[in-house]
Amino acid sequence: MSNDCLFCKIISGEIPSNKVYSDDHVYAFHDINPVAPTHVLVITRKHLSAVNDRSEEHEPLLGALMVAANRIVKQLDLEESGFRYVINTGSHGGQTVFHLHLHILGGRPLAWPPG
Ligand code: 5GP
Ligand code: ZN
Repeated sequence: MSNDCLFCKIISGEIPSNKVYSDDHVYAFHDINPVAPTHVLVITRKHLSAVNDRSEEHEPLLGALMVAANRIVKQLDLEESGFRYVINTGSHGGQTVFHLHLHILGGRPLAWPPG
């Protein structure tokens, strides 16, 4: 828990969110500003600032994040149509919230390469 962190406040319930999935390691909710018909954020319950924050120490947690995302795409019926996982990191990566989160995007064709 980091006191000034928006996503820690979402996990604690201090800031409301629209829950999609929850387990011992992660919590998932709808993005407040969706960029696709489905736009879900999967966040770790433990506060890590980014995906590469002490990543070797957190190998099991990073695995749990990906496995949970796979459960969520199944739950949301995105497996057949396809989807995209995004982890924005740092300034050039476009990260705006410094608590590890994985975006799940789906429900429309997504362009590549990103802007
Ligand atoms: P980033 O740009 O760091 O990869 O992604 C942060 C995401 O958090 C953005 O897509 C933004 O819309 C979302 N977000 C920011 N504040 C809130 C909030 O208070 N509630 C929810 N549900 N999403 C938020
Ligand atoms: Zn946090």
